[in-house]
Amino acid sequence: MNELKNKILALKKERNAFIMAHYYQSLEVQEIADAVGDSFALAKQAQNASQEIIIVCGVRFMAESAKILNPEKTVYQSNQGAGCPMADMITPEEVLELRGKYPEAAVVCYVNSSAAVKAVCDICCTSSSAEKVVRSLPNKQIVFVPDRNLGSYIAKMVPEKEVILFDGCCPIHDAVSEEDALKIIAENPGVKLLVHPECRVEVLAHADYIGSTAGILDYARKSDDKAFIIGTESGICEILSHELPEKAFLPLKSGFICADMKKTTLQDVLDCLEGKSAPVELPERERNAARASLERMVSVG
Ligand code: SF4
Repeated sequence: MNELKNKILALKKERNAFIMAHYYQSLEVQEIADAVGDSFALAKQAQNASQEIIIVCGVRFMAESAKILNPEKTVYQSNQGAGCPMADMITPEEVLELRGKYPEAAVVCYVNSSAAVKAVCDICCTSSSAEKVVRSLPNKQIVFVPDRNLGSYIAKMVPEKEVILFDGCCPIHDAVSEEDALKIIAENPGVKLLVHPECRVEVLAHADYIGSTAGILDYARKSDDKAFIIGTESGICEILSHELPEKAFLPLKSGFICADMKKTTLQDVLDCLEGKSAPVELPERERNAARASLERMVSVG
């Protein structure tokens, strides 16, 4: 294993490559990365990367975002078999159909979506910026795609808007039920529940904190509490347990794992560095239109 790591580190330097890993990647992949973060942080890192090669250890939409934001670079997705089931739930044709049905609405698209979908939306958002993005729009009607759970949460936070939801979700977060939440809360009285807004509204109703993966990490790091229930992918529990061994991190549900995020191996990363994988390519028109949606999000702050 060490031999593989050393090979990656040497070749990364030699080929002037920048390796980014999402928080949900395995710890061994995170260890060889130059940057670890959530999808928003990684997109910003990709935009500012000066290296010739960017390797994105994450799912397809993240590698696409890196290519959209820094098109001159050679961008690799570490494992091309890693898609995001939520991103795959919506097509550009379905967005265009919604546009036809709600001509007065602004179409807001969660970054967990394909480049082709971003290209036909007005503005992107992340879980941490969604509320601010929706508030920033002059339109009363908002079509929110593809995550109905995040969209429902935002609709509650911004009641002055009429939010029209698309029926997509993250199957990993959506699989947590209110019963799961009530059970673990009852078993661990007084322990705070930190939840990602991709979970269902009835689960969010029991949360002490609702936020992005970066927000959950931040909350757990800063809090004086000694134990937490973590309502997002188990990678966050792993990171926190590794970093803060004096605190306890309990997964909200067992098997809270995104299989696609775990597909990347060190060998995949080495294959990218050795030029054995195909780089990400996107049609220029799609790339430019998707970039406009992403840049509007960034300009909202
Ligand atoms: S955790 Fe959910 S939203 Fe994130 S990549 Fe996996 S399926 Fe997609």
